Amino acid sequence: MSETNQEYIVISGARENNLKNVDLRIPKRQISIFTGVSGSGKSSIVFDTIAAESTRLLNENFSMFVRTFLPRVPQPDTDAIENLSMAVIVDQKRLGGGSHSTMGTITDISPILRLLFSRVGQPRVGPVNLFSFNDPQGMCPECNGLGRRLGVDLDKAVDLSKSLSEGALLLPGYTVDGWDWNMIVQSGFDPAKKLSDYSEAELDELLYAKAKKIETQFAGKPVNITVEGIIEKFTNKYIKQDVKTKSERTQQTVAPFISEGPCTSCRGARLSQAALGCRINGLNIAEMSAMEVGQLIRAVREIADPVAAPIVKSLAERLQHLVDIGLDYLTLDRETDTLSGGESQRVKMVKHLSGSLVDVTYIFDEPSVGLHPRDVHRLNDLLRKLRDKGNTVIVVEHDPDVIKVADHIVDVGPHAGSRGGNIVYEGSFQGLLEADTLTGTHMKRPLRLKQDCRRPAGKLSVKDARLHNLRNVSVDIPTGVLTVVTGVAGSGKSTLINDVFLGQHPDAIVIDQSAIGVSTRSNPATYTGIMDDVRKAFASANKVNQGLFSFNSKGACENCQGLGVVYTDLAFLDSVKLPCEACGGRRFKEEVLAYKLNGKSIADVLEMTVEQAREFFQLKEVVRKLQAMSDVGLNYITLGQPLSTLSGGECQRIKLASELHKKGSIYVMDEPTTGLHMSDIGLLQAIMDRLVDAGNTVIVIEHNLDVISQADWIIDMGPDGGSRGGQVVFEGPPSEIVRAEHSITGRYLSAE
Ligand code: ADP
Ligand code: ADP
Ligand code: ZN
Ligand code: ZN
Repeated sequence: MSETNQEYIVISGARENNLKNVDLRIPKRQISIFTGVSGSGKSSIVFDTIAAESTRLLNENFSMFVRTFLPRVPQPDTDAIENLSMAVIVDQKRLGGGSHSTMGTITDISPILRLLFSRVGQPRVGPVNLFSFNDPQGMCPECNGLGRRLGVDLDKAVDLSKSLSEGALLLPGYTVDGWDWNMIVQSGFDPAKKLSDYSEAELDELLYAKAKKIETQFAGKPVNITVEGIIEKFTNKYIKQDVKTKSERTQQTVAPFISEGPCTSCRGARLSQAALGCRINGLNIAEMSAMEVGQLIRAVREIADPVAAPIVKSLAERLQHLVDIGLDYLTLDRETDTLSGGESQRVKMVKHLSGSLVDVTYIFDEPSVGLHPRDVHRLNDLLRKLRDKGNTVIVVEHDPDVIKVADHIVDVGPHAGSRGGNIVYEGSFQGLLEADTLTGTHMKRPLRLKQDCRRPAGKLSVKDARLHNLRNVSVDIPTGVLTVVTGVAGSGKSTLINDVFLGQHPDAIVIDQSAIGVSTRSNPATYTGIMDDVRKAFASANKVNQGLFSFNSKGACENCQGLGVVYTDLAFLDSVKLPCEACGGRRFKEEVLAYKLNGKSIADVLEMTVEQAREFFQLKEVVRKLQAMSDVGLNYITLGQPLSTLSGGECQRIKLASELHKKGSIYVMDEPTTGLHMSDIGLLQAIMDRLVDAGNTVIVIEHNLDVISQADWIIDMGPDGGSRGGQVVFEGPPSEIVRAEHSITGRYLSAE
């Protein structure tokens, strides 16, 4: 195909955010990768221009009537975009969906598995729906398909070390010698024997016996009474009936005895007994759903029944996609809201691979997040597959190993914010290595292993951790140094650090990527506290009340309440956001805007970038906070940018900036290089070093080889993901990991 015939998406004069009249041609049906420092304008091109225009075009296909209900997507600020196909954005937003959404349902694999059981499962039970926990026919009637339900906390209900006379029954109502207590004793239980000496049958009877009538003596006369096990009775009274209908006092009395646990009927499998009785090669559908995908695919391939062949084929194909993308350690019954951002994105990717759409523009946002260098090639294979199906693939990425796979590279820069917004290089990977851009130069830099590692001040011990896949992990985390916890995806890093370690050290400062900001008015200035100082400065310069300069005060624009935008709620769609007509987006009343500080209004200040504000302000506290933000590579964001528009990586760095001055603490960071260009990683390392030098303990979960190579201490989890992981395969300094036989990470550090 000659160059002139080739199809391109053609963009002319793009000016969103910091873009400087960018002209660009993106080859169709190829992989284009956008690189450049954070804030250089990659998202402004890819999301705010290309994806936005595609959404707008899509909406135009609807009838006028439907369109009146759709959010009005404004045309991106650009002269023209030609040749665009439908865009699908595969991002890192977590897959929500509650407990009824699992890996199996979201990837459409569960319906195929159900079909398989309905065709070849033994004994035959008929309908496909019987195998669905989302269907009334299939769900466990005890827990309505949730797999969990409220139950009595046994440890709180009885004290096994006591006898009935000593007060072994702790549930309300069974005071020794009271009516209910007497009924229990009358029905034949020995009041002097410790419950721990009861036989299993006796204890079962005491706790769970169904209501039955017994004849006994009362005040010398024979009477018939009804007795039932104490837990059975409590369950019938307070759990099967809605406890909310009882008095508040009763609710408070019974609440401590009730907790949520696996459903005792289906044992967490969510399905009816009929469905669970149906098996293939000895396994029921719940057992298959609880197998790791890597094992499940083997079990599925062993199904020899010719009737099942086409179903087995399609099932294996989809499972293979999950294996290919490095998610073989997940199970189909895993609830999607427990997946990490990177895992969520890869699951979404699999969904698209199985689909049959062609000529779609797929847009990925840093798909390497959460992937160990060992698994990056799997991601690359997947991107190639999407391309080879006839799609255009556009990726924003910082990982050198992903950048290598590009057919076409667009390097945006040269720097961030107003000093960026240009295309500084376009072309092949080889060309990039020779280009004089930040990306080009950093791609060539060799990796160096830290030699002069700091000595630990002490240690924090984790003992016999067994959560999720952890296999009795005992590990010492040194204090006063920088520790990097690494290992392939699913090896147990987050479980060890975020669940187990933080469970024991809740005082640690956690700097993660979760969204921040308490209200829609939150921005970097309010979050870091700069806004308070700025308000004071405006107030004293103008001799007015500082409250005037707050978004929540009477100084704020009344039309938008200081938001600068107006949200219009639509019943069944995302609400529409439009610039406020009263203040033109400047958020304050005219009279407030008239007050100036060194010639600038409060709105002018909020429009300043961190870098500009640093030149403008002399106030010591403000300068310190601004410096902290620029130290974490956020020079380019504006003080008034809503926190909701920041990426996960940017949120994480803002948190880092506002926690930087604390001393003597434990810091825990989860993949802090997310969203950071290679040239910005040095900045991050400098911050971590500063924190450690100030006497803090820093623990970082990372895959980035630059960060791992500069650690004082490495804890490498593995050897693989899921059940094949969960062990510490190496503990020690970088110079030793390269010699450790079993460490995959070590191999990648020495290969560089
Ligand atoms: P990248 O994707 O390369 O990190 P972006 O395209 O997100 O960079 O940002 C480029 C510039 O545009 C930055 O200065 C950023 O602060 C600014 N910017 C991005 N989104 C917005 C927004 N919603 N409002 C105001 N400024 C923005
Ligand atoms: P890493 O952080 O190294 O990627 P994780 O700690 O997230 O690994 O996962 C380790 C193992 O524990 C995996 O098999 C994963 O599927 C499992 N796991 C993690 N979180 C949960 C959860 N909330 N529920 C069930 N299993 C989980
Ligand atoms: Zn159940
Ligand atoms: Zn307004």
